[in-house]
This record gives sequence, structure tokens and C-alpha cells, in this order.
Amino acid sequence: MASDEAAKLKAFVGSIIILWLTKREILFRTHSSTDLTVRSVGSMVTLAGWVHRRRDHGGLIFIDLRDRDGLVQVVFDPRVSAEGHGAAATLRNEYVIQVWGQIGRRPAGTENPRLHTGEIELIGQGCRILNASRTPPFYINEDVEVEEALRLKYRYLDLRRQRMKENVILRHQTVKCLRDFLNARGFLEIETPILIKSTPEGARDFLVPSRLHGGKFYALPQSPQQMKQLLMVAGLERYYQMARCFRDEDLRADRQPEFTQLDLEMSFVGQEDVLGLMEDMFICLAETVKPSMKLLKPIPRLTYDEAVARYGTDKPDVRFGMELRDLTGIVAGSNFGVFRNAIRGGGKVRGICASGCGSYTRGQLDDLIELTKGYGAKGLVALALMAGPVGLAVDPASSAAAKFIGLEEVRAMAALFGAREGDLLLIVADQATVVDRALDQLRREMGRRLGLIDPSVLAVVFVVDFPLFEWNEEEKRWDAKHHPFTAPKEEHIHLLDSAPGSVKSWAYDVVCNGYEISSGSIRIHQRELQEKIFGLLGYSRERVQTLFGHLLEALEYGAPPHGGIAPGIDRMVMILAGEENIREVIPFPKNQSGYDLLFDAPSDVSVEQLDELHIVAKKEG
Ligand code: ASP
Repeated sequence: MASDEAAKLKAFVGSIIILWLTKREILFRTHSSTDLTVRSVGSMVTLAGWVHRRRDHGGLIFIDLRDRDGLVQVVFDPRVSAEGHGAAATLRNEYVIQVWGQIGRRPAGTENPRLHTGEIELIGQGCRILNASRTPPFYINEDVEVEEALRLKYRYLDLRRQRMKENVILRHQTVKCLRDFLNARGFLEIETPILIKSTPEGARDFLVPSRLHGGKFYALPQSPQQMKQLLMVAGLERYYQMARCFRDEDLRADRQPEFTQLDLEMSFVGQEDVLGLMEDMFICLAETVKPSMKLLKPIPRLTYDEAVARYGTDKPDVRFGMELRDLTGIVAGSNFGVFRNAIRGGGKVRGICASGCGSYTRGQLDDLIELTKGYGAKGLVALALMAGPVGLAVDPASSAAAKFIGLEEVRAMAALFGAREGDLLLIVADQATVVDRALDQLRREMGRRLGLIDPSVLAVVFVVDFPLFEWNEEEKRWDAKHHPFTAPKEEHIHLLDSAPGSVKSWAYDVVCNGYEISSGSIRIHQRELQEKIFGLLGYSRERVQTLFGHLLEALEYGAPPHGGIAPGIDRMVMILAGEENIREVIPFPKNQSGYDLLFDAPSDVSVEQLDELHIVAKKEG
């Protein structure tokens, strides 16, 4: 009994002190919303946060007070505190306030099971406005569609919204989990410079003019690729960093001019070591930050050739089937000009089968044709399968091509797809790359339309055995498929001169739900081979010396075998958050045209600044 009394006395004295500190403006808050549960009933507390919502219920004023971690309902009753009630009457949404009073149990029947604090409320005794707010340009307290430009201009308000706040928190948890994982495996987190030398790595560089070295430029790193390799030459063996990368490319939903990679590199490893580590890391990540999502284990592997043949892309979404089939052999002798001409021109005829879509209307089919054309194909042949007098036939209404395609061909195609009456074959005839690109997009679209995609699945795939080179048709030369530092498979080295297109490399990608989330490779660690690759990529000796002399020299000082990978943080978090655009998981992104709407950047600079940098700006338009 005595100790009960003592506890009560202590609580009472505590309350008095809290009230005194609050009134003296010494204390902002005693608790955050997460600290409060039914066990807090009876405590005197002071809270601070934003007015999320205010409701005036005939005498009682309810305020939902929001802090970073959640909401607490505050009720102002004039019978409890006329002063508090009076102050609450002046509050508006997004005002920053401090409130104090006693935690009470919500009356039976008014609890909110969706809130962590849903069983309690703060019975307000006083309230102070710490700062007023203008009426926000969009609702903070409702998940409504808001024009993106407005959200980006007022990003600090947009980030107050629940969905965005959750994304920021998820990003933090992801990065923390990855750091913990790698730290536990002996990796060192090492920073590398942002101002480096411009070296071709695939994309266009962002350049930074030098004031001290007039007329010369630094480049922002497209990735710390060479630096991490040099760290391996330096004997550091296991490196990672959350690296900011800069690429001046055209933007897409999953691209920004600056983005973040978990850049890592290891010495004395082969492909299996890197992929094994990635497998453990992705499983750990999914289990830690998104236990509600199912990651398919063990992580399957596809060779590059297999991925392209089955899905038309090296970034397949394997959450659903609808795989591509090659029909070139079946229609080789076709009367249908579109097929014949494509094959004669060295192209391919491939397709997918959309089960149960045979009754698509003209309008729906035209839609799919437009979509396919949007990806560069000349057209799309849609054949709806129906029961003919003897077995399967094509519904003549589905395609003008129907009359040119023999029954034998139809049946052979249907057999290849395992298709039945009521199914829709969607076929593209063109150069292989065009066919694949169009069918990949069409397949993704059909997967979405038909609801074949389970959003709770994380379908991670390792794609391996990439070609070392890729033919650049425009410039009529070979480009590195990954980057020039990637090692060719030893057994293909003899093909480097005679058949460079068939050389496979030790490059690998990690793909998740149809997005490339990491690329990496085992690197070349001998000077002669690296020089040979530069030569095949068309670099002159002088250029190699100027651009890569430092790296080549380093390879002569005992460079260990090494390799690495660089998972993209933005894309990973985007997928984990269930978002479809990386801008949703970057606190301050640029818009689709690389413009920062909050800061208005890029912007003009003064003539003096340019002078200092030895630059004369050429005015656009
Ligand atoms: N630096 C490469 C990239 O950014 C990744 C790697 O090879 O580790 O794609």
C-alpha cells in the first residue's frame, strides 16, 4: 500500500513539474506518439506536432495531433479547461502546436483499432501555437491524387503525407539493413570522390568546370567503378558505400540524373561468390524490411540468351508466364507478306498467347496495336482462336491477316503455345531486337490487364552469361555490354578477334519484378587483356593512355582477381514500397525533364561566376 501511495505521489509531483516546464516554455514534449499506449492512462504528458485534423463536435473540439511517428487524438472540453478549449478553437490544419494534459481511455465504442494510440486520448488542459501555417496547396491528411509538379514544388509538404513518410522510412530501413549485413561480413565502408575525371562508361558525364585549372573540367562519377577497383589493388579486399552516381541521360520512370547505388567490390572472388552474397543479402533485406512480401527462394538463374528467348528482355518479370515463342520456323513458308518479308530481311516472327482474350473487341485490339507500334514495331498481328469446322481456326474478325494464314500454321502455332479456343495470339514480325522489345512490353501490359501479377511477390532472378560486346549499329562498332572492365569468360578469349559478338562475359544482373536492380561483373585484372579490350572497343593507344593510364598502371602492381556489383537503392526501395516511379522514394527528386521544381535548378549564374570559371555561356534559343 505504502509503495502505491509513493508511486502516486511521484506521478503527481512529476505532473506538476511537467506542467511547470511546459508553461515556462522549457520543455517541448515529454512523449512522442509511439510512446503512448493504454499503459499511459493517467499520465500527464506534453506533446508537440502538427494539427492533422480538427473537428468541432458541439462543445468538444477534437484535434488529431501528428508527429513523425503517428497520431494522437486530443480532446478539448471547456469543462476541463476553458482556456485550452479557447486556444483549440483557433487551430487550423498544419499549425504546429504544443498540447498538454492527462491521458485518458477513449469512451467505449469510440476506439480506433487502426491507430497505435487508438484506445487513448489526451484530455487537453492547454495548448500553445508554436507556429501557424498557411492553408497547404493540397491535402496532407488525405491520400488523394495531386499533380506531381505541385508535389515537387512543395516537396516539404508532400513528405508530410503518410505514404511519402513511409517511403522515406522504408528507404532508411533498407539502407540500414544493407549496411548491417555488409558490416557483419567484413566489408569496409569507404567514400570515394565526387569530383573525378571524365572517362567514358556508357552514359554522358555531368561536367564541373575548374576555376583553378582554366578550361579544364572534372566529371561527376557515373559510378565509382575505377575507384573501387583501385581499392582492391590497394588490398582493402571488401568495400562498399552508398554511392551517389550521376548520368546525364534521358529520364524515365526508373531513372534520375543522380541516383544511389550500394556499390561494392570484393577481392579473390568469382561470380558464384558475388551472387551467393547477393542471394543472402536480398533474402535478409526482404525478411527484415518487408516480411509481408514473398521472395521466391532459391533465387533462380537465367542465362542472358534464355531470358531474351523466353521473355524478349534481359529484365524479365517472372511473376507470371505468358512466355514468348518463336514462330519463325512455322511461318517460314507463309503466304502472309508481313511474315515473309520480315523473315527474308533476316528478322523473326515471335508471339505471346493471351489466354481467354479471344473475344477482345476491335477497340481493345487497336489499343494493343498502338502500344506495340509505340515500341517501334511496324504492327501487331492478333489472331483470336475459335473452333473451326475441323479443329482450331482463326476468327476472321480479329485480323485481316487471318485469310492468309493456313490452318496448318494456325494449329502448329497453337500447339507451340498450348493455346485453346478463346485464346488470343499476339504476333510481331520484324528484326529480332524490335520484336523482342515490343513483345516484352506487350507481355507486361497483358500481365497487368489480366491481373496475373501478384504484387506481394518479389521475383528476383540472376541473369548471367551476358555477351561481352554489343554491336552499335549507328556508329558501326562494338560497345561494352556492361562496361569495359568486365572480364570475358576464359574459354571465349580466343574468340575476341574472330567473333567478338559471341564472346560471353562474367557479367551478371539482378532483376526483380521486371526491373534491373543491380549489375556487376568479375573484372579484368591483367593489363594486357584490359588493353586488348580497349583496342577492340575502338580506343586508340593515346586515348587509352589519357583516359585509363592510371588504371592500367595499377593493374601492373599486383592487382588481385576481383569483382563486384552495384544494387540500385532507389529501384529496390521503389519495388519494396510498391511504387512505380523512383521519384516516389527519393526525397528531393528532379522531374521528368531533370528539373528541380523546388529550387528551380538548373538556373542562371552570374557573369562573374562564369568569368571565374573561364566560361562563356551560349544562350539557348
Ligand atoms: N559500376 C557498375 C554500374 O554502375 C556496377 C558494377 O559493375 O559493379 O553499373
